[in-house]
Amino acid sequence: MTSIPIGNDAVVALHFVLTNAEGEQIDDTHDGDPVLYLHGAGHFVPGVERALEGHHAGDTLTVTVSPADGFGEREGDGPRAVPRSAFPADVELDPGMEFVAEGEDGQEVTVWIIDVQNDKVVIDMNHPLAGQTLTFAVEVLSVRPATATELAHGHAHGPNEHQH
Ligand code: ZN
Repeated sequence: MTSIPIGNDAVVALHFVLTNAEGEQIDDTHDGDPVLYLHGAGHFVPGVERALEGHHAGDTLTVTVSPADGFGEREGDGPRAVPRSAFPADVELDPGMEFVAEGEDGQEVTVWIIDVQNDKVVIDMNHPLAGQTLTFAVEVLSVRPATATELAHGHAHGPNEHQH
């Protein structure tokens, strides 16, 4: 198989190690399956996608992204506590989980769980990594053209096509 460069409509598989500005490791995808994404569809970290343009399978690169090119600037009033009863009773709540809720004006908003206490849940409207300068050490595993189905769906499909 010929190697194609990373560009729009390529499906990229990669591993990365993520560290924050203090050099603390936040994530290492080697613990699990590679990240698979459709390039140019806005699903991966914008600054990293840009840096990956033109790279090939086998390449490694280290990219530092500002909040604007990462998970965004922090906005709003910060974390706040809401009653546990605001969430479905049958769902186990853990820090880091993401929920889509209906905002006061009826539009959908995403909230992240920061902490779970007895009858209260601390939530934040900001992504947990918002406002942070982040460094990704990326290892490109494979690059292939997206299939027609993937392009129609607007996202990459894993080894089994049923994972979404
Ligand atoms: Zn799909």
